Amino acid sequence: MPNTADVIIIGAGVQGASLAFHLTRRGVKVVVLEKSFIAAGATGRSSGLVRMHYDVRQDSELAWVSFQYFRNWRQMVGGDCGFTRTGFIQLVGPGDEETLRANVAMHQDIGIPVILVGADDVRRLAPSFSTADIEWAAYEPESGYAMPSDTANAFINAAREESAHVVQDCAVTGLMLTGGKVSGVQTSQGEFSAPVVVNAAGAWAGKVNQMAGLDLPYDTWRHDTMFVARPSEMGPGHPTVIDFANEMYFRPEGGLTLVGLEDGNPLGESPDSDTDHAKKGFVERGIDRICRRIPAMENGGLHSAHGGYDGITPDQHPLLGASGPEGFYLDCGFSGTGFKTAPAVGLCMSELILDGKATTVDLSIYAPQRFAEGRQVVGDHPYVSIWR
Ligand SMILES: Cc1cc2nc3c(=O)[nH]c(=O)nc-3n(C[C@H](O)[C@H](O)[C@H](O)COP(=O)(O)OP(=O)(O)OC[C@H]3O[C@@H](n4cnc5c(N)ncnc54)[C@H](O)[C@@H]3O)c2cc1C
Repeated sequence: MPNTADVIIIGAGVQGASLAFHLTRRGVKVVVLEKSFIAAGATGRSSGLVRMHYDVRQDSELAWVSFQYFRNWRQMVGGDCGFTRTGFIQLVGPGDEETLRANVAMHQDIGIPVILVGADDVRRLAPSFSTADIEWAAYEPESGYAMPSDTANAFINAAREESAHVVQDCAVTGLMLTGGKVSGVQTSQGEFSAPVVVNAAGAWAGKVNQMAGLDLPYDTWRHDTMFVARPSEMGPGHPTVIDFANEMYFRPEGGLTLVGLEDGNPLGESPDSDTDHAKKGFVERGIDRICRRIPAMENGGLHSAHGGYDGITPDQHPLLGASGPEGFYLDCGFSGTGFKTAPAVGLCMSELILDGKATTVDLSIYAPQRFAEGRQVVGDHPYVSIWR
């Protein structure tokens, strides 16, 4: 097993996998070191929503570039990402209609297929929804969801075909420096050397930053989700939805509906805590919310519930770029929304590392130094923070 590379990536979640894929496509020798197994972290628990609605232009641009991968996966990557088109509806609370309108205009300017729709349209798209509180919504007819583990594995398989080495059950325990520059890492399976090391360690990335002597604001974020079996009277499916008014999102998967909540997601817990079970009280809150939007769900049944951990930053946006010793890069802190943008982030990070600048989408707003410099990522027409 070669222990020398051009670039070492710490973490085989969807972000590390996407970066490995894009670097190997440019002939770079990559080693991916993963303490557990591929997609063992947030990626394996992700709800997999694929939509472009954001209030920050660069977020939408990254999601739109990524969308080209999801819908052309076999040609662009190979294998399968499990993309399912359901259509996506963004519902907002009272008072956010003007913000919605402005953000939809921004999305249309990028070229994203999206229109503003009224309550009648929402009823036609989703007859089982309660629409009494809806005046306007955004509708993305092409959007839907994908399978996060399959996505990460497809990226890794394609990277392996281009000579990437992926070492699982291999925890990075220290960063090696020579003359103040990155020269490799120490791991549970010995030393690996490379002049570039990328931290794609998700909820564990704060610890890896400390190995590099970095003191950046970084926390862990816990998020529970549940699957509910839909009652037959609801029909075969429904669109994927973010419902700000009920602080919730949901999407179909076969005869089940996946539900996640925007509030009550604890910060600061160990990412090694139990994720096989949802926290006490989550299922009751989730059922109450989904029944508010879809009254027929009162006849549904709980299928399963579990949780996951992601890394989160103070502005709920990732840390992307060089920081600390020369050769050390951050690709972490996706704050609960880093699945759908992973293809484009991997492409842009490969441009940043190899060419000195990301050109597909400018990543400079996500620079890790922004907090020290008193900047945060905020949209021109911001909604309140999604996670509360
Ligand atoms: C429940 C849940 C639902 C979500 N739903 C959505 C959604 O619908 N849409 C969306 O866009 N985003 C969603 N997200 C967010 C998205 O899943 C994450 O932002 C994304 O998966 C992060 O990928 P990652 O590669 O950065 O992290 P991870 O997938 O966590 O990967 C990091 C990897 O690093 C490894 N690692 C950590 N430390 C070390 C070390 N020292 N040495 C070696 N390896 C190490 C870990 O084992 C892990 O496999 C959700 C997140 C959660 C938790």
